Amino acid sequence: MTILFASAELFPFSKSGGLADMASALPRALNRKGQEVTAVTPLYAFIDKKKYNILKTEESFRLKIGQMVHDVEIHRCEYEGVEILFVYNEILCNRQHLYGPPGGGYPDNDLRFAIFCHVVVELLRCGNYDLCHLNDWHTALAALLAKETGVESRVVYTIHNLAYQGIFPPSSLERCGIDARHFTPEEIEFYGQVNWMKAGIGFADAVTTVSPTYAREILMPEFGCGLDGYLRRHSAKLRGILNGIDPTLYDPGSDPSLPAHFDAENFAGKAECKAALCRDFELDDLARPLVVFIGRFVAQKGMEWIIEALDALAALPANFIFLGEGEERYHAALEAAAGRTANLRCFFGYDEALSHRLYAGADLLLMPSRFEPCGLNQMIAMRYGTIPVVHAVGGLRDTVHPAGSGRCGEGFPFEDGNACGLVAAIEKALTLTADPQKLEALRRFDMGCDFSIGRCAEEYRQLYGELLSGSPSSKGEL
Ligand code: ADP
Repeated sequence: MTILFASAELFPFSKSGGLADMASALPRALNRKGQEVTAVTPLYAFIDKKKYNILKTEESFRLKIGQMVHDVEIHRCEYEGVEILFVYNEILCNRQHLYGPPGGGYPDNDLRFAIFCHVVVELLRCGNYDLCHLNDWHTALAALLAKETGVESRVVYTIHNLAYQGIFPPSSLERCGIDARHFTPEEIEFYGQVNWMKAGIGFADAVTTVSPTYAREILMPEFGCGLDGYLRRHSAKLRGILNGIDPTLYDPGSDPSLPAHFDAENFAGKAECKAALCRDFELDDLARPLVVFIGRFVAQKGMEWIIEALDALAALPANFIFLGEGEERYHAALEAAAGRTANLRCFFGYDEALSHRLYAGADLLLMPSRFEPCGLNQMIAMRYGTIPVVHAVGGLRDTVHPAGSGRCGEGFPFEDGNACGLVAAIEKALTLTADPQKLEALRRFDMGCDFSIGRCAEEYRQLYGELLSGSPSSKGEL
């Protein structure tokens, strides 16, 4: 089976979150299962072409979209056994950030990703792929264009986060090369605007999202971001497939970012990782449990609850490190708290190596998301023997079960979505960390759980097979 896998970000070339991890790991895992997957992604200006031996191909073409003509080059490399095609166009790629500066989006993101989608469809037309796997709103338009162009490849569309839908004014139809006949509520019109997410949901042959619980949640108004009704209409082709992580990239036994290595049989290296972090962040009292937060500083990740809880957290017998970037108001509140509190530190920015050191050196990972399509942090944390404290929603509910439940993995999920629920869950977790034997047993248990991308790839392989054999893809876990 030949598959074209399209994503706006792909680790290690570009990454803003879990989409990049999945776009990197899934094609690799599928290839290992005998599928022939080619990934396609933009060649952003910040990607180091030399380092990855990315070379320009003979394929360059001019695309007429609306009234404008856009020059496109195709570059390629092979990365860990996967062929990766890179789309270069000046408007799409010549930017400092993927989507815009922290907290904002570029005003021409519609045109940028329309160019990418048109190229994806051009590749489908010429490339003889059995199937095309699209991810998130940036690639959703390709589902509509593929059907319109008569491309025969089956189309799978994965929603990684329904909150980001790609909504643009009607004037963008023309410049993105979208036929105005699609501008109806049944297709891509959304309260007078153009909604790309609807194109993905409506035109794909199968729609997946990244956890079974999120697949159910988005059918309800509370989590549906205005599209719950539209999703209910298309629910026969929706299923939740739990994401996974690349166990070789996140391996405490060999991770090159760590000052010391460890495994479930010997945690001495983990203690060294913690000591190094406490030294670097000038945190006293190594014996205190270390709680970390890694992620975007946005409302989705529970920042309001965190900010409200900061004083209560400061009073706990634990140290805290927050790594992330996002909205200014959250930066300011965290910075102020770090200034008045001896046990709280922040690092503002995106730092892959530091994130690995935090996963490895921490005792607890805090992830109080208001909603969470899947979440990778909690799976990565468990791989490094770090116990997750999470709000029980979406993929967090599917992956973190109460300590002692015997279900893979275990941690401290809390039901009350507010600051008090968060603090109570950390307090509960701290009673466990106070007992070294219980803590070690739980670490060992979580490290033995399989959250690998291989399991996820197997479910996708089955879905692709169903689509190609023509059997309906309605056996989802809804
Ligand atoms: P998201 O909603 O952001 O996609 P996920 O939990 O699915 O959240 O994935 C987040 C990924 O991004 C993880 O690999 C996490 O380690 C990484 N990450 C998030 N913020 C940062 C940061 N500031 N620095 C380094 N890595 C980060």
